Amino acid sequence: MQDFINELPKLAKDVEVANKKFFIKLKKKTPKNLDYIMQDLHDEEFEKTDCLTCANCCKTTSPIFTNADIGRISKHFKMKEHQFISQFLNFDEDNHYVLHTAPCHFLGADNECMIYDVRPKACREYPHTNRKKFHKISEITMHNIPICPATYNIVEKLKTILADKPKKQFR
Ligand code: SF4
Ligand code: SF4
Repeated sequence: MQDFINELPKLAKDVEVANKKFFIKLKKKTPKNLDYIMQDLHDEEFEKTDCLTCANCCKTTSPIFTNADIGRISKHFKMKEHQFISQFLNFDEDNHYVLHTAPCHFLGADNECMIYDVRPKACREYPHTNRKKFHKISEITMHNIPICPATYNIVEKLKTILADKPKKQFR
């Protein structure tokens, strides 16, 4: 897995232009069954990809912490919300609360999340490859491809599947 993770930024760069074109096309002509296709691809990928052997998302990027996340996690630590914020979070340029360190402070040495049951919503939903209306989150997906091996694989498979479809369904 680590070799793939190391290689991923280059692999992602190699397909960046093609992916941008692909997502523009996907937005214009979205297959009616895209939600089902994505759910299948996502399930298939995560049957063989074990996130505990990777954790590259937790090591390199921060989730957004919503107010509900902050309330739930600070309660878990029996901390005041303002204490939790000042100890762990910053405001980013988009006015979102994010971690001020990477890797994530809550990532254990074994790649387990130490706050798994109360983790941020963004962590529960990452990498969003089974999100309904997947074509509407292409910017997020493009951002995730160099970070997340599963996202890279899923998008590559999606491209292959849709390229094989009859013209009237996708082109
Ligand atoms: S809170 Fe847990 S799942 Fe989220 S980034 Fe940190 S270690 Fe990963
Ligand atoms: S979601 Fe992606 S980047 Fe995060 S641990 Fe799983 S495979 Fe790795």
